[in-house]
Amino acid sequence: MSEGSRYLDWDMEKLTTHFDVDPAEGLEHSEAEKRLEKVGPNQLAEGQRLSPLALLLNQFKDFMVLVLLAATLVSGLLGEYTDAIAIIAIVLLNAVLGFIQEFRAEKSLKALKELSAPMARVKRNGSWKRIPAAELVPGDIVSIESGDRIPADLRLIHAENLYIEESALTGESVPVSKTGGVIRGGKEIALGDRKNMAFLGTMAVRGTGVGVVVFTGMKTEMGKIAHLIQTTESMQTPLQNRLEQLGKVLIVVSLFLTAVVVLTGIVHGHDAYKMFLAGVSLAVAAIPEGLPAIVTIALALGVQRMIRRRAIVRKLPSVETLGCASVICSDKTGTLTQNKMTVTHLWLDGRQLEVSGSGYKPEGEFIFDGRKVNPGRDPGLKRLLEVAVLCNNARLIRESSREGMLRRKQESWRVDGDPTEGALMVVGAKGGHTGEALEKEWKRVREFPFDSERKMMSVLVEKGKGQRVLMTKGAPDVLLNRCTHLLRGGRPVPLTEAMREKILSHNDQLAAMALRNLAFAYREWKGVEPGRETEAERELVFVGLAGMIDPPREEVKKAIRTCRRAGIRTVMITGDHQTTAVAIARQLGILTEGGLTVSGNQLQRMSDREFEQKSKNIQVYARVSPEHKLKIVKALQKDGDVVAMTGDGVNDAPAIKAADIGIAMGITGTDVSKEASSLILSDDNFATIVSAIEEGRSIYDNIRKFISYLLASNVGEILVMFLAMLAGMPLPLVPIQILWVNLVTDGLPAMALGVDPAEEDTMDRPPRNSRESIFARGVGWKIVSRGLLIGTFTLASFWVAYQEAPDDLVRAQTIAFATLVLAQLIYVFDCRSSQSVFHRNPLNNLPLVLAVVSSALLLLVVMYYPPLQPIFHTVSLGFREWALVVAASALPTLLAGLIDLIRPVRQPVHHG
Ligand code: ADP
Ligand code: MG
Repeated sequence: MSEGSRYLDWDMEKLTTHFDVDPAEGLEHSEAEKRLEKVGPNQLAEGQRLSPLALLLNQFKDFMVLVLLAATLVSGLLGEYTDAIAIIAIVLLNAVLGFIQEFRAEKSLKALKELSAPMARVKRNGSWKRIPAAELVPGDIVSIESGDRIPADLRLIHAENLYIEESALTGESVPVSKTGGVIRGGKEIALGDRKNMAFLGTMAVRGTGVGVVVFTGMKTEMGKIAHLIQTTESMQTPLQNRLEQLGKVLIVVSLFLTAVVVLTGIVHGHDAYKMFLAGVSLAVAAIPEGLPAIVTIALALGVQRMIRRRAIVRKLPSVETLGCASVICSDKTGTLTQNKMTVTHLWLDGRQLEVSGSGYKPEGEFIFDGRKVNPGRDPGLKRLLEVAVLCNNARLIRESSREGMLRRKQESWRVDGDPTEGALMVVGAKGGHTGEALEKEWKRVREFPFDSERKMMSVLVEKGKGQRVLMTKGAPDVLLNRCTHLLRGGRPVPLTEAMREKILSHNDQLAAMALRNLAFAYREWKGVEPGRETEAERELVFVGLAGMIDPPREEVKKAIRTCRRAGIRTVMITGDHQTTAVAIARQLGILTEGGLTVSGNQLQRMSDREFEQKSKNIQVYARVSPEHKLKIVKALQKDGDVVAMTGDGVNDAPAIKAADIGIAMGITGTDVSKEASSLILSDDNFATIVSAIEEGRSIYDNIRKFISYLLASNVGEILVMFLAMLAGMPLPLVPIQILWVNLVTDGLPAMALGVDPAEEDTMDRPPRNSRESIFARGVGWKIVSRGLLIGTFTLASFWVAYQEAPDDLVRAQTIAFATLVLAQLIYVFDCRSSQSVFHRNPLNNLPLVLAVVSSALLLLVVMYYPPLQPIFHTVSLGFREWALVVAASALPTLLAGLIDLIRPVRQPVHHG
């Protein structure tokens, strides 16, 4: 018998005895810990990782480094011991530095993956808890609902309308209907037919269920095929790929130039062996082998900064895309608003009641016409509150703590579940109908869960034996269509057109006050249980309306202004009523003069072309279904926009996936939406998206900065040697000096540029075009112009010194060396601004200042510390020589800065 089909025909008793668990209580924590100890964590084994040692050895795999080592060996054999030892030391240092860089990058990537580790809802010690899915053990009782990723292999004991999409396992993308019952027949039932099992890694797309964990980790069906899938999702960004290409081009170019340098040197009578060594050193220096690692570190550190600002990046490439975002489409409820709802108004057949009290504290009164209403004596109000509390999955929880100086008992209230439903629990409790009290009276028989397509939720409840009532709540305009009667004075009367009109117009009045509205209805249920929601939710009796405030988030207004300055449009997308949506969009500044509002129905009727034309001006989408979101994303993308789109439900996943930046909610989001996303907001807040975009822009800027630095420096280095050889001069730099520049001068400051603070105007310019080259907007110009200037001035200082004292080549070489180093250390400040070197305070990047100061000090050490002088071929310089060095090294940046002042390089770019 196959192990996997073992539990199919077990009944509840056999299951619970076998796993030694009481389904009502779940496992004891201590027992779960013991089992975890025994079976190990519920995780799939990871693919092969590079060990630190392998990573270190990898550093020597580089072709040029090998050539360098070979060359060193040759010079060692020729008796040039100091050269050989110094070069080996530098190569080793270089490897260690590269290793540290890559190790850090690797580590932060790993931390990133762990952040999005899945959670599971499990019953332990008698109550439901959320724990990391890795801690599940066989015997755990787990609950799942639509949108969850199944956290282990479960034998279901209860399923309510549960459908699971198992394509990850079976390849079949049509969701499978699941049951909690026993399945008999055949030991070899195919995976897809094991309808009372739920498998790790598959997705619940509808309904709810409870199951017993039967297998975890590698024992699961997914575990059995884990070696086949090995989802090593590439964390390479497009930029990293492009840089890899660029790196290859640069290798060829530098090798070519190096060859030219070596050959011209030999032609001009230089010693062939010396030229060879110089050439190899030059090639090593000119190839920016550290670039990919520095890019990864810049990305990873940026991601860390984003996490501190509550944005969790799931896919590294989206860090780059963030900087290109030109539209943000945001959900309203919870993202633009606080999701702290309070029912303030009720409406019952012509009477408008106000509800006092605020927050989740269940104390308040119902006031009609200035007088208190007693909910016990008002049948309409009583029924409304019953529906509100029974057709509800939230829980109102009282928490008491002792706080403050007097340690007085403090009471606070919190909602577990959907805030909309929480608000209804509160209003019920204000009227004396707590969840606990009503649930004793009424037993829930069935639930038709809320979904944002239908915009309704129903429960079938039973009082005593026999009296069954279907209770429904939902969006008023939708629910009203399912009603044929109206509750008046405690009994149903037929609903006339006039009454419908009245209800809708009152609904509109409440919505205009920015209230989120819900309607309530019921139906006495006789006969057989309804199978589907469409059978149930009809011929209902309308009871009334509730309007709740959901205050806008304060920080969002500012974020929306920032977006406007940054050339990013903001669009509200909501399932809520149009009037409510418009009222809130106005308050937040999303809806502006000339902006359009479109409802889901209107959208449905528009042709694709008409919609694409209008989409640029639509600022609010109301009463839309998740499927519309996909249409919106596609239309905007077609128009050349880079779209960021938020979502939380299962049905949002396609739109999230299709968006350039799919954003999921950390608190209210489902697993499915999170897995489709590239960014998760850990506080569900719109303002966090804007912070992430700002970080995204500045990370990209920083990458451009150190690319400008590294490549211009390399151009400078090659040029000095190249021109000198062409002109028939002696070698301006000896190999060890070139290697030293490559290691010290290029390494530290470049890394510090990676953490450069954002420029002040980061959010004052339009988004970058996603197809733009990394060299666009001045970077290419900077690399060429600065490289030329640094190269020529270094050579000039060498030539001047050499002319003065042709016998003292070492002095001239020391001067060239010092000039090259200093010129780069000055130029690094030029890289920090997209305008000119004079635009930024050079001191506000402390790591950079430290990097520059330590590089400069190290230069002084190798120039003045006598034991190092023969190794680095240096001599101590005097005042006059320093004047030459300082002038020749400062001039390139100063001259270029002046040119930029007169002729600004950066032209604003715009999309489309
Ligand atoms: P949004 O998240 O954009 O506010 P939803 O899809 O959550 O939109 O809700 C759409 C409409 O469905 C709401 O305006 C409300 O009337 C109704 N609704 C929301 N939550 C529930 C619920 N739990 N039960 C019944 N109806 C609901
Ligand atoms: Mg919602």
